[in-house]
Amino acid sequence: MLVYLDNSATTRQYDRVTDEMKKVMDDFYGNPSSLHTLGLDAEKKIRGARKTIADSLGASEDEIIFTSCGTESDNTALYGIAHSKRREGNKIITSAVEHPAVLETCRSLEKEGFLVEYIGVDRECRLDTEALKNAIDDNTIMVSIMSVNNETGTIMPLQEISKLTENIVFHTDAVQGYGKVDLTNCGADMISLSAHKIHGPKGMGVLYVKKGIKLPPYILGGGQEKGYRSGTENVPGIVGFGTAARLAFDNFDERIKAMKNAREYLLAGIKDQIKDVLINSPADGAASVLNVSFLGTRGEVLLHTLEQDKIYVSTGSACSSNKKSRSQSHVLTAMGLNFKEIEGAIRFSFSEFNTIEEMDYVLDKLKTAVERFRRLGSFR
Ligand code: PLP
Repeated sequence: MLVYLDNSATTRQYDRVTDEMKKVMDDFYGNPSSLHTLGLDAEKKIRGARKTIADSLGASEDEIIFTSCGTESDNTALYGIAHSKRREGNKIITSAVEHPAVLETCRSLEKEGFLVEYIGVDRECRLDTEALKNAIDDNTIMVSIMSVNNETGTIMPLQEISKLTENIVFHTDAVQGYGKVDLTNCGADMISLSAHKIHGPKGMGVLYVKKGIKLPPYILGGGQEKGYRSGTENVPGIVGFGTAARLAFDNFDERIKAMKNAREYLLAGIKDQIKDVLINSPADGAASVLNVSFLGTRGEVLLHTLEQDKIYVSTGSACSSNKKSRSQSHVLTAMGLNFKEIEGAIRFSFSEFNTIEEMDYVLDKLKTAVERFRRLGSFR
């Protein structure tokens, strides 16, 4: 049995997405800017995908910019607003638990002279909204807070934040929230999405930019994407993203239910069968993530032990951990966990394809791995 529980790192592409993308590569290879039929047909395909994604956000089609990934969307939102609003103020507020796509961009903006405030979280990764409220001042031009944390699944209070940011641009990195929580009335002015977290292709992103928000063009050239991001469109990728979004939203409730069932079953089993664990995800977190510290073990060793039984998990966030110089999770650190608690942490992340039978298999192997580690100190 192969059990894939690393869906927050990336997901297996839907077969339908692969089929649609292949069809586009084979038959709709025209340049969407060309005036002949092949070009128009390719453009029509893009329009279809744009509408699906716009509908899923409760947005209009001209508010959707296709990008190459969630990271590009985050970079674009932060650099774009910072640079265009520099004269109005130089303060940006974000959280201490953002993905590096936001945090590293903020650090780079600090080097340019912007002032960045990083709002803290509690033990369950909930944002300190009081601190956010107090941090907003006349100098603040932008607030960027993620919709769902990638390591714990904690859902951030976007609507509440949007009420605090009525005169400030509010960006949310919804890479982990899209297809997991409802974003239609979240109140954000800009939203970053990524296709590969919802069974779409890797290397495809979206930046939603609310009408009225001024974003400078950031890739200059032929004027594609309303002039914001030039370059011939990745038509198969865009169609793949649109197809994945359609499938994810057509089956939204069933998908969430399947993830929730697997998550709850695994959580109950862990609590019941394994001693000395710390549950790092809140009970009301997204159905897609469960973060647990197995005290007295090392998550990385557990990960490789489980891998021998074809169970794939993560120790934190795969995208954020530079494999060569792995450092301790900044998210769990911000939550106040100590070194040992962080060291023993494993992230299980779910898709609708996970089953109860798989969870029984995981529980069995996990229990053995944890007990063996604790008995021997290490497997090495
Ligand atoms: N933001 C969050 C919260 C993520 O989890 C990730 C990827 O894990 C990204 C941004 C980056 O997205 P992409 O891999 O499409 O660049």
